Amino acid sequence: MTERYVAALDQGTTSSRCLLFDGQGRLVSLAQRQHHQHFPRSGWVEHDALEIWEIVRRLVPEALSNAGAAPEQVVALGVTNQRETTVVWDRDTGRPVAPAIVWQDTRTAELLQSLCENLDAATVYERTGLPAATYFSGPKLRWILDSDPSLRDRAERGDLLFGTMDTWLVWNLTGGVDGGLHVTDVTNASRTMLMDLRTLSWDPELLACMGVPAAMLPEIRPSMAELATTRDPVPGIPITAVIGDQQASLFGQTAFEPGEAKCTFGTGSFLLLNTGTEIARSRHGLVTTVAHQVAGEPAVYALEGSVAVAGALVEWCRESLDLIRSPAEIETLAMTVDDNGGCYVVPAFSGLYAPRWESRAQGIVAGLTGYVTKGHLARAVLEASALQISEVARAMNRDVDVPLSSLAVDGGMTANNLLMQAVADYVDVPVVRPMMAETVALGAAYAAGLVAGYWPDRQVLKRQWHKAGEWHPELDPAVRRQHLERWDRAVELAIAWGA
Ligand code: ADP
Repeated sequence: MTERYVAALDQGTTSSRCLLFDGQGRLVSLAQRQHHQHFPRSGWVEHDALEIWEIVRRLVPEALSNAGAAPEQVVALGVTNQRETTVVWDRDTGRPVAPAIVWQDTRTAELLQSLCENLDAATVYERTGLPAATYFSGPKLRWILDSDPSLRDRAERGDLLFGTMDTWLVWNLTGGVDGGLHVTDVTNASRTMLMDLRTLSWDPELLACMGVPAAMLPEIRPSMAELATTRDPVPGIPITAVIGDQQASLFGQTAFEPGEAKCTFGTGSFLLLNTGTEIARSRHGLVTTVAHQVAGEPAVYALEGSVAVAGALVEWCRESLDLIRSPAEIETLAMTVDDNGGCYVVPAFSGLYAPRWESRAQGIVAGLTGYVTKGHLARAVLEASALQISEVARAMNRDVDVPLSSLAVDGGMTANNLLMQAVADYVDVPVVRPMMAETVALGAAYAAGLVAGYWPDRQVLKRQWHKAGEWHPELDPAVRRQHLERWDRAVELAIAWGA
């Protein structure tokens, strides 16, 4: 019998991947390519949406040919994406009218203060689950519309379309200028600051306050539904799931039940806790977001602690400092010393996200003395990721009745054993890593395959989760407390510096 597969398209912050999975959730084929990061000014981060689409167009046939698979063997495609990154394009030409503004970009810090005169931040938070921060799409979209006076008219006429990367890709995959489907899913829509979390539809008051014409918005659909069939570059593949990357990895970790959580360490780090069909509200600086929705069923929600800079700091050490030649080398360098030598790095490159939400904070290195070597610095770089996520985990534990008892992790940085030990030490719970590190893509594939009937139910997927690594807290509690206190002081300095 001919083998059948499920495909996932994972459009990430630094690269795009197309992957094929088999019935056991094993990776059969992977095609991947990076795209350019543009930093035109301090705090600005841009992508070229057309470059990304051209890359994706090449990856889909490449993934098929790597596996020697015909298109008919792919029963479903799940699309997952970097969230919040904002694209505006011309419906007739299919060309973006401006560079895509990436989620990490902080150019909207001032704009945010002047927005929403009629709605206070508490109301926006109540309705969208999001604090007023540069992270989210709505203000980025407003910024693009304000950047050229002709754009607003065109947007109001419906000649311009808005989308996050999921929308941009699905529109192109389903025909683009030739009748492409203009849709997004509830998870991506929940990151725009324009959607009401309860009704799962665009909120007219929020649109008015953000100055966004309804005519340019995509239709909001469930994450798991028979959406459309691809027309380009490989026709005839059913798209049956669209889901933001962090929600996809929650699904890929099979955290289907309320109380189950995961933490991804990639460009940024993101701790998500499934709260079921209940919209849990944070009182300690976390975001409420949609985890997924199956067509015809109520949405499942999550509490999220988002950290903007994790692997991005390692990347910065490589690209901007020339401290290391590859990300893996940061661990080798950090192993040359026993501790951080009193040094702390607060990587507030995009301000600070959860739980602080300080858009203006700027990065600092605290505790420099002549004793500090590049080994100490490398250790402080890794500890920054662990310390940031421990702050988020503490916020989450304060928000919920049952504290985290262990942490399932995934993402590129989880290859780093020193970091995983530091996470166990600072979060103070066991850390477990599954065999399949590509949980974002796997989650999109699982979601798509369930809709297509490729897998009968979620229990089958649960049984496919296998542990590959485990780390237990080892740090002396007094030493841990001391590190957390110093970290806290360093964070306060980063906030004060940018104020
Ligand atoms: P994304 O999907 O956000 O692009 P990935 O999950 O692919 O991210 O992870 C890539 C990130 O992980 C990069 O920022 C890279 O610097 C970092 N990274 C990869 N390997 C390691 C490692 N061994 N140690 C530390 N960081 C790493």
